[in-house]
Amino acid sequence: MNDLRGIIYGIERFSLHDGPGIRTLVITKGCPLSCRWCSSPYTQSPKPEVLYRQSDCTGCAACAAVCKNRAITFDKASASVKTDRTLCSGCGECVAACAQAARELAGRYYTPEALLREVEKDEAFYRRSGGGVTVGGGEPTLQAAFVAGFLDLCRENHFHTAMETCAFAPWERFAPLLEKLDLVYIDLKHMDDKTHRAWTGASNRRILDNLQRAARQNDVIVRIPVIPGFNDSVDNISESAKFVKSLGNHVARLELLPYHLFGIHRYAELERGYALSSIPPLSDEQMANLRDRARTAGIAVEIGG
Ligand code: SF4
Ligand code: SF4
Repeated sequence: MNDLRGIIYGIERFSLHDGPGIRTLVITKGCPLSCRWCSSPYTQSPKPEVLYRQSDCTGCAACAAVCKNRAITFDKASASVKTDRTLCSGCGECVAACAQAARELAGRYYTPEALLREVEKDEAFYRRSGGGVTVGGGEPTLQAAFVAGFLDLCRENHFHTAMETCAFAPWERFAPLLEKLDLVYIDLKHMDDKTHRAWTGASNRRILDNLQRAARQNDVIVRIPVIPGFNDSVDNISESAKFVKSLGNHVARLELLPYHLFGIHRYAELERGYALSSIPPLSDEQMANLRDRARTAGIAVEIGG
């Protein structure tokens, strides 16, 4: 019996934006970066976490009563509860105790076989549409052994396989996954290392190096999440496009992903603040201008994924 397990935030079915055809997106949990604009904070930690919706909470305190770690305290003034996340083990007892469904556990462990059984349910859609399975996150390379085991099973079943990655991983961990993929989406966040460090918490050197190496052997689509005030200057987009051009013909295109505020409410559910809440997204015209500038590098560029 295989005791390999990975932690998954969720499984999204019928996705049309994560590879060819109709796809099942597996959202892994855990990320080595801490991007200030992150729209999926519930995927950052590699452990199960409790989400809490205060608007659904009646203040009954049933959750506090069952918590063995005494992580939950009742706040009389707001008739709501607070969770000390340094004490929480993610056991999920409080979620089961909440009759209002105001608490939710983000993160569930799967074996590769159990995950395959989930994606197999969509097999008919893959066959009809030329689709398949995409592993995203979070960052899948953080759970490389588990993801490799799962991709092997997908391949045994002749499913098209894709991965969405920030590419911030040692090459020794990254390379074995590339061998099991039909398509790789790699994020390129900023060409300047100092700015990259300031906004993501990590250097871009390993990412640029991995991108170059991956593009020698895999079909790659490069994605830039365009974040106002971070990487949306014409200079940075032009330099990024030139870099993508230098990667060669394995790169099908560059996708510019507009900054958005979907998922930001999840910060409140994690009882955390969001660093960029006052930044408005770029207009369609501004995005089109950046796309046109990037195209001058001689590569295919699209807005959105
Ligand atoms: S059990 Fe649910 S409704 Fe009751 S205090 Fe806890 S979160 Fe609120
Ligand atoms: S998940 Fe478990 S440890 Fe965490 S707050 Fe709920 S009951 Fe307490």
